[in-house]
Amino acid sequence: MIPKSLRPLIPYLKKYRWGYVWGGLCVLLTNGIWIFFPQVIRRAIDELNRVDSLRMGDTQRTILLYAFLLLGIACAKGIFQFLTRWIVIGISRDIEFDLRNDLFQHLEKLPYSYYQRTRTGDIMARATNDLNAVRSLLGPAIMYSANTIVFTAGALFFMLTISPKLTLYAFLPLPIVSIVIQYFGRQIHERFERIQAMFSDISARAQENFSGVRVIRAYVQEKPEIESFERANDEYIRRSLKLVRLMGMLWPTLETMLGFAIVLVLWLGGREVLQGQSTIVLISSLGTRTTLHLEGAMSLGDFVAFNTYMVQLTWPVIALGWVINLFQRGTASMGRINELLTQKSEIADSPEALANADAGREIEGEIEFRNLNFSYGDIQVLHNINLTIPAGSSLAIVGPTGSGKTTLVSLVPRIYDAAPGSILIDGKPLREYRLDALRKNIGFVPQETFLFSETIRENIAFGVQNATESEVETAAEAASIADDISGFPEQYNTVVGERGITLSGGQKQRTAIARALIRNPRILILDDALASVDTNTEDKILNHLREEMKGRTTIFISHRVSTVRNADRIAVLHDGRIVELGTHEELLARDGYYTSLYNKQLLEEELAEV
Ligand code: ADP
Repeated sequence: MIPKSLRPLIPYLKKYRWGYVWGGLCVLLTNGIWIFFPQVIRRAIDELNRVDSLRMGDTQRTILLYAFLLLGIACAKGIFQFLTRWIVIGISRDIEFDLRNDLFQHLEKLPYSYYQRTRTGDIMARATNDLNAVRSLLGPAIMYSANTIVFTAGALFFMLTISPKLTLYAFLPLPIVSIVIQYFGRQIHERFERIQAMFSDISARAQENFSGVRVIRAYVQEKPEIESFERANDEYIRRSLKLVRLMGMLWPTLETMLGFAIVLVLWLGGREVLQGQSTIVLISSLGTRTTLHLEGAMSLGDFVAFNTYMVQLTWPVIALGWVINLFQRGTASMGRINELLTQKSEIADSPEALANADAGREIEGEIEFRNLNFSYGDIQVLHNINLTIPAGSSLAIVGPTGSGKTTLVSLVPRIYDAAPGSILIDGKPLREYRLDALRKNIGFVPQETFLFSETIRENIAFGVQNATESEVETAAEAASIADDISGFPEQYNTVVGERGITLSGGQKQRTAIARALIRNPRILILDDALASVDTNTEDKILNHLREEMKGRTTIFISHRVSTVRNADRIAVLHDGRIVELGTHEELLARDGYYTSLYNKQLLEEELAEV
């Protein structure tokens, strides 16, 4: 009964079931009142029809009463209609609120790999545009369909009491209507899906253009980008117009059928009324004026009432077209949202970790890679890595680009998951630690830093609740960014990132280092985090870091010998394998990759001095 893509909405509908019950009650009252409107008209007309000169005054009073009754019905209907809207549309907003929160929560937990393969603009489009379509389904679509069903059922009942034969004629086009609805429904669904896919594409394009604005400017690609955007936009409009054309056909089709039914009713019903009227004329010529009807004939009042029902049915029929549209859009959009919701958070807490509330709270910091192999899909990038980094020691990793350095260090905070048992901390497999506890103990500074459009203080204290002023300053000091910050317009309150002042690459990296240090981590991982700073600043940071990281485990990736030479041990990674391992002196004695790197950089330095 409920389409598969809408099933995830069931818990939300259940949560607000009482609201829907009240809404349903209002729908019943609105239509229950409105359905009597033609009945009053019927009585008024029949009253007029048997008007008698002796009882003229009585008739006038009765007609006035009916007029007030009609007014009362219209007002009461209006009030309940307002209440229905208020309740049902209100619920749709509440569900939208819940759904948006849940979606955000879910997206926050999805693994990094998901964001690597999905365009941000696409996610944004689904979380905004598609969510809107779902809200329209939960509010207006449900409200209008309930109205249409209740009113049609009521009208059918009263029309049957007036004339079963005419009712049959009136509902003659019904089978065709249901075929039309099915056909249009399917078409709307497909076309709307295509529109939304195009909207996602446009959003993603816009988002990538804004984020990549520097590259676009640098390569003078504004014009081609504008043209390509225009083409996408054009396609979006073309697809939207296809749907507009379809809707443009749906309403006239429904109205034509209704018109056809009205013509049938007027023609056949009119004939019956005429038969009834001729009877009355016959009787009145005999001098007695009564409202006798022929068996099976209708009074004028009946006929007008019947037609009033038909007219009243116009809006529910039009609403039907609207409902099909909203319903199909909502279903298509919910399908797209489900694609986000069904994405699994591949990296989650294992049952062992969940069973132990303290798992990972306190760690020493010994890291062991044991027969570690790792692949992205079918491509193996790490081969049989065996290495132990004692707690409190430092390890530097060097190696050509693409040798797997970033991959290796990303496995420690479980940004990607390695095979169980291939990475151990303090002798225990990673999976036995709770993910949040594990990550709290690791300060990770990735290659590409990201700053939020908040103050520099908030950026440094990110993830540390109630960080004090002095903690932020100490971390900034340790990362050698404090002097730069004191030169900013509002020091620690300067807004950085998107809307604030723009930091240099080196300043960003140091802010990111401060962010890692303030957590006071047992393990610090720097992935080429000093690449954008000059050698002098680098020396300063390293000196500070050595102080800071005393007793903590540090892994840092770098291309510079000057950065790595003081590490307790240096590992050279080549094609996903550790090919050299030892201290600076030991590696120089081996005359391998490290030695050639050293000689090259020595030469560069000498050349620079010349
Ligand atoms: P390094 O840090 O030494 O430059 P990486 O660990 O970044 O090396 O990359 C190692 C290899 O893995 C490269 O061949 C790279 O193309 C590939 N790689 C890195 N990240 C991904 C990913 N998310 N999906 C697929 N392949 C990847």
